[in-house]
Amino acid sequence: MYHAPPAHPSAAPPGVTCLRCGQSWPRDPVLEVACPSCHAKVGSGCKRPSGHQAQHVHAARDLLALATVLGYGPCPAAEPIAAPQRRATPTNGTTQLTLNL
Ligand SMILES: [Zn+2]
Ligand SMILES: [Zn+2]
Repeated sequence: MYHAPPAHPSAAPPGVTCLRCGQSWPRDPVLEVACPSCHAKVGSGCKRPSGHQAQHVHAARDLLALATVLGYGPCPAAEPIAAPQRRATPTNGTTQLTLNL
């Protein structure tokens, strides 16, 4: 008989899914690195100085995960970071207004 592996309902988090772009990771990528801000270990969430688990990870940890974890990048559905507005300006700049009188 096939013996199914036992489920761990409380041990492993079910991963994370981005609500913006729908990407999902089997494990939260920020948990793959230690937090440089609060020194939370790999696999454990960010901690406040009080010891409570923070709702969101520290920004420094997210940046570190972006640079470290393969397959984890900036959200394509998020607002572009400092994207300059591309203005369609002609190089010669000679826009002629022809008035048909
Ligand atoms: Zn942290
Ligand atoms: Zn996303």
